[in-house]
Amino acid sequence: MNTEFIIEAAKAIQQSILANEHTLESLDRAIGDGDHYINMKRGANVIVEIEAELAPLKPSEALNKIGIKLLSTIGGASGPLLASFFISMAKVLESQAHENQGLKENGDESTLKIATAFAAGVQAIIQRGKANLGEKTMLDVLIPVSNQFVLLTTQNCDIKLICATLIHTAEQGMLATKDLIATKGRAAGLGERAIGHIDPGAKSCQLMIEAVCKLSLKELNG
Ligand code: ADP
Ligand code: MG
Repeated sequence: MNTEFIIEAAKAIQQSILANEHTLESLDRAIGDGDHYINMKRGANVIVEIEAELAPLKPSEALNKIGIKLLSTIGGASGPLLASFFISMAKVLESQAHENQGLKENGDESTLKIATAFAAGVQAIIQRGKANLGEKTMLDVLIPVSNQFVLLTTQNCDIKLICATLIHTAEQGMLATKDLIATKGRAAGLGERAIGHIDPGAKSCQLMIEAVCKLSLKELNG
């Protein structure tokens, strides 16, 4: 992963969020306050707008900047949670870069390093939001994806298989939120009335994972 990929990924995420306006808006209107699409759109737009500032940075610096920018841009519960994801991911990449100083100077990161950093990002969301699996949040997508990502990279799986599996895992996690009662976030007050609705944060995370994995697959296929 280099910074060019991060910028391309931000653009792919922006396209996916914009293309899913109706879905994200109606999901948050059903079990939240209806602002999730606006929040995600604002976040995606601002990251694409700072492309020129990100371009000269190392991947860890770019991800840290993205986190800081999201913190001041996205309102609501999802802003600080997503910001902490990127800031923690950056921290892990930065510490790994120090360990390997002199070995890799082109800023390219191995898949296992990325998976480890992704897992640290998800842990940061767990800690900040004090939620976990099964509470009808974005974590119902992020935790299974993170677990699969680490497992498959540890097993040295082919990157194409990893991407395809993560797309599928994200979708399963997102769909599973439909049958859950929310115990965290705004939907927690709804009790059984939240059943039958997919969690908006889970949907946007699924879209983001799908966008990044599809971009990776496209680059691999040339
Ligand atoms: P708000 O709920 O403040 O209006 P958003 O609508 O942007 O903010 O985001 C709502 C999403 O945030 C939810 O669908 C859920 O996935 C996620 N979320 C809310 N609280 C938490 C939490 N404590 N941990 C993880 N995710 C959460
Ligand atoms: Mg909302």
